[in-house]
Amino acid sequence: MSDYRLGIDIGGTKIEIVALDAEGQVVLRHRVSNPGTYQGLLSDVKKLVDDAHTRTNPYATVGVGIPGAVDAHTRLVKNANATWLNGQPFADDLQDVLGFPVRVENDANCFALSEATDGAAAGRHVVFGVILGSGMGGGIIVDGKPLKGLHDIAGEWGHTPLPWVREDEFPMPKCFCGNSGCLERFLCGPALAESWKGAGNRSVQGIEDAAASGDAAAQRALDLYVDRLGRACALIVNIIDPDAIVLGGGVSNLNCLYERVPDVMKQYVITPECNTELLKNKHGDSSGVRGAAWLWG
Ligand SMILES: [Zn+2]
Repeated sequence: MSDYRLGIDIGGTKIEIVALDAEGQVVLRHRVSNPGTYQGLLSDVKKLVDDAHTRTNPYATVGVGIPGAVDAHTRLVKNANATWLNGQPFADDLQDVLGFPVRVENDANCFALSEATDGAAAGRHVVFGVILGSGMGGGIIVDGKPLKGLHDIAGEWGHTPLPWVREDEFPMPKCFCGNSGCLERFLCGPALAESWKGAGNRSVQGIEDAAASGDAAAQRALDLYVDRLGRACALIVNIIDPDAIVLGGGVSNLNCLYERVPDVMKQYVITPECNTELLKNKHGDSSGVRGAAWLWG
């Protein structure tokens, strides 16, 4: 019987399912809107899985990516921006509804796993995957498996502070997590948009073209962003020294990052040479759902 893996990505507004064959080819893809309630989510996921099982293989494994983490001790979801998921025993409830084991993982870890399995960093030993989108997430993959950590927060660099701060960068902006100066306040997409066009802006579309055509605000915003992302990546290299750092999310489409950020990293890492690859993701928006499928490696 053919070997299939089902991956499900639970986003703020949609639920997506894919079936991958043994070679990683997508043989089925389906999207529905997220019902926004816990019971609705469980029953919609069951419908998607039942349908995919009928059309592929009734024994296809199921992996799920969520915008949060399942606490290893309490088994409850935490840190989800879909706040109605927090405090729910989602992995256990889903297993009860489906009647077989499922693997549930943070969506940034799924992104990193996808890119480390058959994406931009395929074959690398240690991979750090980063999502630079409306928020910011990170995941560490070691030999094809997510490094979860004691509290299931390994790789959550968005809420670590901007390193090697200069005097003119004070005072540090407040973060929703309660601290000040978190990387997310500088490196998520809306932070770059605000630094370019002022408060209230959220889109970075066109910033590279604007900078190339002489828009001083765009150039200044990009220069600052490149410098801060370089420092943030150098910190990761100093701690886990990955073979590759893969960027995802809307900001990862800025080509200048791959040309300029490695030079900044070199200035800060504690080694004379820095050979860490900084890579653009291969699977784009599909990486989260593909990584969920690859949770059954
Ligand atoms: Zn924070």
